[in-house]
Amino acid sequence: MSPAPRQLAFNFGRDLLRQINLLPRRAAAAVKPRRKATSLRRDPILEEVARMLVKRVGCHRLAKEVCVSWNPRMRTTAGVACYRTRQVVLNPKLIEISAGEVQRTLRHELAHLVAQARAGRRRIAAHGREWLEACADLGIPDEKRCHELPFKTRRLTRRHYYQCPGCETVMARVRRVKSRIACIKCCRKHNGGKYHERFRFREIAEPGDRIAA
Ligand SMILES: [Zn+2]
Ligand SMILES: [Zn+2]
Repeated sequence: MSPAPRQLAFNFGRDLLRQINLLPRRAAAAVKPRRKATSLRRDPILEEVARMLVKRVGCHRLAKEVCVSWNPRMRTTAGVACYRTRQVVLNPKLIEISAGEVQRTLRHELAHLVAQARAGRRRIAAHGREWLEACADLGIPDEKRCHELPFKTRRLTRRHYYQCPGCETVMARVRRVKSRIACIKCCRKHNGGKYHERFRFREIAEPGDRIAA
């Protein structure tokens, strides 16, 4: 098996250091390859929305630099913002909740970047006056200062929960599901993508913490 390109690059770097005597042999062996970078996926469409929003509130430089990604490894955090890298990272579970939730979380996180861009080098509180002002400018004046997914912290609007008997994935719906629907992941995995009764979602009382992907 041939090593991954990342590994190759790393080894090359190590060998080079050894050749120019910056790294003793034994220490070189002890150096572990870095963990694979995160599984962030850029979203060009949301990025375009972000640029437009940020430009509209007067942050032109930030509008050029901002990037928006999804991180499938996020659990209950709805989103995060990093001013240093001008990055907003969102939890893909938001898509399952609603398109509105995606938009609101995007604005919440952008408000962090806008507030910091306006403050310059001055340190500001994460959810302080500047952030609230930015939220209002971005169209979410009533935004709460939480980053958790709404089914954990905000009032639940989803009343019906269904679970796949195969993989136990939970799906939330506002209205009762009347048609027969099965878990797409399990049907793909075990039944060639076709409907199978074995993976039909069953209604449950407790939502748990997983939502259909
Ligand atoms: Zn926040
Ligand atoms: Zn399933």
